[in-house]
Amino acid sequence: MSASIEPSVFSRIVAREIPADIVFENEHIIAFRDIAPKAPVHILIVPKTEDYRDVTELAAGDPALLAELIATAQQLADQHSAGEFRLVFNTGSSAGQTIFHVHAHLLGGHLPEGTLGN
Ligand code: AMP
Repeated sequence: MSASIEPSVFSRIVAREIPADIVFENEHIIAFRDIAPKAPVHILIVPKTEDYRDVTELAAGDPALLAELIATAQQLADQHSAGEFRLVFNTGSSAGQTIFHVHAHLLGGHLPEGTLGN
């Protein structure tokens, strides 16, 4: 369970307390464009629950929700980046994680070959 008291930025987007360019939403998941895109297509895919801080907690606690997140990534890539994509889960602050509410970065749109970033 998350130890945070305040809702995360992402929960505030779910609650429509702060604006976002939402591209997908269902009962379990929301997806919206990253405010500081690192690729031509950069969408964050976020389980609505705040129970999981990172992808390892999500995989252990609700593998079906992780599988749904991956399926959503493919669906969004089909719509926004010709079906091809890179999926990044920053896990821990030294790996660049800044928001401890699990989320996937869907990156796409002609990324350089042989790289993991840009
Ligand atoms: P991470 O560093 O992996 O925790 O990713 C957090 C991401 O959230 C960063 O890429 C930020 O640019 C993005 N971000 C932070 N606030 C917002 C917001 N209000 N709307 C959209 N993206 C955001």
